[in-house]
Amino acid sequence: MRRTLGTLRWRLTLTYIALLALLLAGLGTYEYIALQRNLVDVRVDVLTGNVNEMRAQVERLLPRASRTPAGVNALFASLCARLNGNGLPNAADPTAPERTVAAALAAAAGTSAGVVVYNRLLQPIASQPETLSSAAHMSDGALRTVLRGAAAHSAPEVLDSQSGNQLAVAYPLRSGTRPPCGVVQLSTPTDSIDAVLSAERTRYAIGGGSVLVLALFIGLFLTSRALRPLRRVGETAQQLAAGDLRARSNLPRRADEVGSLAHSFDDMADRIESAFAAQAESETRMRRFIADASHELRTPITALKGYIDVMRRGAARDPQALDAALETMGREADRMRVLVLDLLTLARLDAQRAMELAPVDLNELVGEVLDDAGEGLPAQMRREVNGTPVLVIADRNAVQTIARNLLGNALKYAPEAAQTWSTAIEDGFGVLRVHDDGPGIPAADLPHIFERFYRGEKTRAREEGGSGLGLSIVKGLAVAQGGDVTVRSSEGFGTTFTVRLPLAAR
Ligand code: ADP
Repeated sequence: MRRTLGTLRWRLTLTYIALLALLLAGLGTYEYIALQRNLVDVRVDVLTGNVNEMRAQVERLLPRASRTPAGVNALFASLCARLNGNGLPNAADPTAPERTVAAALAAAAGTSAGVVVYNRLLQPIASQPETLSSAAHMSDGALRTVLRGAAAHSAPEVLDSQSGNQLAVAYPLRSGTRPPCGVVQLSTPTDSIDAVLSAERTRYAIGGGSVLVLALFIGLFLTSRALRPLRRVGETAQQLAAGDLRARSNLPRRADEVGSLAHSFDDMADRIESAFAAQAESETRMRRFIADASHELRTPITALKGYIDVMRRGAARDPQALDAALETMGREADRMRVLVLDLLTLARLDAQRAMELAPVDLNELVGEVLDDAGEGLPAQMRREVNGTPVLVIADRNAVQTIARNLLGNALKYAPEAAQTWSTAIEDGFGVLRVHDDGPGIPAADLPHIFERFYRGEKTRAREEGGSGLGLSIVKGLAVAQGGDVTVRSSEGFGTTFTVRLPLAAR
């Protein structure tokens, strides 16, 4: 239960219901007070009307002979004389003026009304109904205000009397235009006002309660709908956390906050998936590389170990056999050295070590590499390298390694075949082309020759074949310098490698 109420859906709905309840309560209270005031005002107006009729009522109660305005004046004069003289109740005198006034007002206000007449000391001296002791009295303050003549009537007060709650108002009693000589309190039961107010309260409680229940259901429905995408994102996050990297929320792209959250979430999941895939691939590549490298190193080490065993068994004492063994051991050691150097170059490329880039003239560098090769070059050797420098931004040693590897391959796989070395400037790149008229690379090998440890089908068995790292180093170095390498080859046509490096001044 607590978990249910703690969900965002319930929290939002309950907050909104609480606000609505507060609003309804505020509005209800305001309306209730206004209605109450209205009902009281109407009742006070009726009472005031009754008081205004007082003289006419009094006249009707006078003996026939004095039933004139003058008779009424005389009655009020005698009433004021009594009140000013602080006259006390005189139950024995049924014609006492205060009793006439009380009776007149009671007749005007109806049977349920109550009347109390007070003297100047605010002592009740007559009442209607006549049991004076049981009559409820207004506060002294209200009575005094009226007695001072400060107001046409007092503010209404609710009195708790034996016959239930009464709404009471005090009015001044005066003879002619003189200041008030006493006070008359007129009261009427609040039953009908209470009934209206009680009905109003019930109506409001039922109406407000229904509105809140309805709002609760609508609120739950609407928040549930609005939060559905959020739930979907949450479920997807759980799937991802459980290892399902292909999980996506796949929500339609919408402009609202939840829509853009879902979209960003899916983007993030895409990136996580590809990062994991890249890491897995890199680990596989690394494992294969280590396995291949160990395999390549094992061959010369085994050979060296074999020769050492042979020498131990006596070959060392035969000078001829010793020479041959040392010669082969030297070759194997060289092979190992080259292999280790190649592996080191590749490791540096993988670590993305910064290269020492500087302007290098391709023509000059090609000249140096070919001149170094000296005698080893084939008879048919063309150098289409003119005098204009082809200045590229490159690492001198790296470009030398590239040229040497290409030359080495041409000599290995196209021995004696004609070679053409040319340089050019094309599309903002300095270009080195190495072509040989050799046997060409079979189509099946072509897509793989730049892969590490890849050796062509035909060359794999051959003694002079290398470790399969040469071209991957060429490619790695070219790319690391902002260039690339491509190959065109077919059996019969020969092979052309094209290396492009960024020009020094584009
Ligand atoms: P390796 O160290 O074995 O020479 P490379 O990466 O340099 O490895 O070359 C990969 C393969 O590409 C070689 O085994 C060979 O089959 C092929 N190859 C490279 N250069 C040439 C060439 N000029 N002519 C024919 N085949 C070549």
